[in-house]
Amino acid sequence: MNNEPSIDVISSVLPPASVLVGTEIGPKYFTDWFGRPVPPPSIVVRPSSTAEVSKLLALCDANNWTVVSQGGMTGLVSAALPHPNEIVLSLDRMSRMLEVDVKAKTMTVEAGISLQQVHESAEEHGLMFPLDLASRGSATIGGTIATNAGGTMVIRFGMMRELVMGLEAVLADGTVVNAMHPLLKNNTGYDVKQNFIGTEGTLGIVTKAILRLFSKPKEKTVALCAVKGFSELVSLLDSVRNDMEGGLFAFEAMWGSYYELAISLPNVKAALPAGSPFYALVEIADFDGASRLENLLQEALTANCISDAVIAKSEAEARAIWCIREAALDAVGQKSPFVTFDVSLRLDRMMAYLDAVERQINSALGAATVSTIAHLGDNNLHVAVHYDAKLGDVRADVKQIVYRVTGDYQGSISAEHGIGIEKRDYLHHSRSKEEIALMRKIKHSLDPNHVLNPNRIFRT
Ligand SMILES: Cc1cc2nc3c(=O)[nH]c(=O)nc-3n(C[C@H](O)[C@H](O)[C@H](O)COP(=O)(O)OP(=O)(O)OC[C@H]3O[C@@H](n4cnc5c(N)ncnc54)[C@H](O)[C@@H]3O)c2cc1C
Repeated sequence: MNNEPSIDVISSVLPPASVLVGTEIGPKYFTDWFGRPVPPPSIVVRPSSTAEVSKLLALCDANNWTVVSQGGMTGLVSAALPHPNEIVLSLDRMSRMLEVDVKAKTMTVEAGISLQQVHESAEEHGLMFPLDLASRGSATIGGTIATNAGGTMVIRFGMMRELVMGLEAVLADGTVVNAMHPLLKNNTGYDVKQNFIGTEGTLGIVTKAILRLFSKPKEKTVALCAVKGFSELVSLLDSVRNDMEGGLFAFEAMWGSYYELAISLPNVKAALPAGSPFYALVEIADFDGASRLENLLQEALTANCISDAVIAKSEAEARAIWCIREAALDAVGQKSPFVTFDVSLRLDRMMAYLDAVERQINSALGAATVSTIAHLGDNNLHVAVHYDAKLGDVRADVKQIVYRVTGDYQGSISAEHGIGIEKRDYLHHSRSKEEIALMRKIKHSLDPNHVLNPNRIFRT
């Protein structure tokens, strides 16, 4: 039961600086990345310490008040937007860098720190944190842990799950769980931190984390290739992966239709002409860098796998190539209306899957086109389905079809972004009845009163 929270009671246990009400509540607490606002919450709590988070949650648990946690509000599945009567718990004041241990290659932070601040601090120490997203300026470590974020370097370093050594979290009843173990090897029973990684804030509030850092590569080389077909794209991935071993940092595929949209943006420069069926952005680190990649691309040209390629000669050129890939939302936004999907499929089913999506949408709704990009090495497709505006709002029909086809091809309906509210009704396409029942049991045992992010992932 979702009771209306008492501002007076909350204000009596927390310092005034931690509580916002009425006109003090700015739109950032009720608007997501897409700019879609919901009605403002009646109260926003911005704790400055774990103790304050604990106090708030104990109070909410005792009174059946519900809480939605917020980081940078860049999540793409509407999970952090407040529902009626929900208290917003924002980590925006818990954003301190606590320690960088250069020898151990670890960084200890509060959960509200932005990904970009983490990158900058690591760099100041000659190190790197290898999770990178286009939303780096706003996305927080708490949000990236809660969504088990991926990004462009998963092919080399894994997702957030692989990059968190330890964390501190507060349970729904206010219990503080200290799992801050800076140990790579720690097989002492259940790995407690996993309860909070990728569980979208439904099992606890992450307040601190110990992150793994890595040596910063001395140099990176970025290339863009025009690729002749999908099987050639997979061959190129294979040969770069085999040849560069741990040196391959990113392999991003762009379908020709996406590339054309991206390079028509005023702030995006075409590094290669349009017209190729596929483009691959390859980033490698060290490993004789440019010369090795140049040889490999020369071989791919000779083998008729690629038709053209360009290797960035400066940081600015490398950035310009990355811009083509990172402009995804702006690029597809030019061709409205559209619905975006973040799915994963086995490589050998990808093209048949995309054909099936396009065919089934066309037969159900008529003229639809698809723009696709992929973290290809991670089997992850970001697909935008554009439909005819004359059809009105057919987003729900498009989603039904795409998620059903994803299930038919044994894919995942969410590779990176989580389930939240947006994908909740389609979870059964990727998870069995028994898996969903187990998720419910875990939720119920850690949060029996459904205080934390209720009705996200599944209805509670
Ligand atoms: C332009 C753009 C590019 C993106 N690219 C990628 C990408 O390449 N790969 C990828 O994986 N994702 C990507 N994302 C989505 C990605 O999930 C988010 O950017 C990021 O992980 C969310 O962080 P946030 O701090 O904004 O969290 P929010 O959006 O504020 O919250 C996301 C979820 O985490 C919960 N949460 C937030 N903080 C905490 C906390 N401290 N404790 C517990 N739960 C918490 C919220 O309740 C919500 O369920 C992208 C988003 C954008 C806008």
